[in-house]
Amino acid sequence: MATCPECDAEIEVDEYDVDKGDLISCPECGINLEVTHVSPVELEVAPDEDDEEEEDEDDEDEDEDEEEDEDDEEEDWEA
Ligand SMILES: [Zn+2]
Repeated sequence: MATCPECDAEIEVDEYDVDKGDLISCPECGINLEVTHVSPVELEVAPDEDDEEEEDEDDEDEDEDEEEDEDDEEEDWEA
């Protein structure tokens, strides 16, 4: 039996079932835990390895200077 360091839930971990470095997830809070020690089993919050580098580049330079030359010179040509 180990305890989740995040939510203090008791997690049933058989020390013979896990090895140091194994990753399990807490059934209570769902956080990823790494087995840092066996007999007794100790758990630590595993580092998030979701290194999805999704940098939001919202730097769309929309500096389109719309130079609209409106040649609406209405000349009344009365023939
Ligand atoms: Zn937990």
